[in-house]
Amino acid sequence: MSAIAQHDPRPLLVAHARSFYERGWMWGTAGNLSARLPDNSFWITASGCAKGELTPEQFVQMSLEGKLLTQTAAKPSAETSIHQAVYRLFPDATACYHVHTVSANLASRLTAAEQIRLPAIEMLKGLGIWEANPTVHLALFSNHLQVSEIGAEMLARFGQKPPQIPACLIRDHGVTVWGRSQDEAKNRIEAMEFIFQYTVAAKSIDLPLI
Ligand SMILES: [Zn+2]
Repeated sequence: MSAIAQHDPRPLLVAHARSFYERGWMWGTAGNLSARLPDNSFWITASGCAKGELTPEQFVQMSLEGKLLTQTAAKPSAETSIHQAVYRLFPDATACYHVHTVSANLASRLTAAEQIRLPAIEMLKGLGIWEANPTVHLALFSNHLQVSEIGAEMLARFGQKPPQIPACLIRDHGVTVWGRSQDEAKNRIEAMEFIFQYTVAAKSIDLPLI
């Protein structure tokens, strides 16, 4: 820990988790949110906590190498490896949000490929794409019971070729986004969810996406 007092990101993580819970994106204990501090450690939701009613005690602080820095009964989420991978890959990322939504799960079944083409709609601006009729793909990863394998695959794949947008989808599981602030990560989760809902709705009426 740095000796310099650092901003505590937990109150905003609690508020964002409650907002996602209320929209059905973090039901039960699903999903996890984290925020990185200037010393490269990060706060992340603890394992097994209901996301609609988190308290600041239901977070743990981890080093970038995965060392637990808090001395409480709270245990880190099994999905911490996903957040670690994001912070190791992307130095600009100070927040990483991972949620489980129905539309993200359905969208992940629309292709067997390692990426999914996203519709060229206005909402892509929310993910930093400012071109007319862009060709944008979202990276798709296999789900693994051992979540550390997902983190390892993210490190290997994105280490070779950075993603087009600050997001990735785990098949039959959920989406992860990252941003330069907690508010940016929240906006990006919302943009991704809009795109998933659009994609699934378009498929249901056989609307061509391109
Ligand atoms: Zn998950």
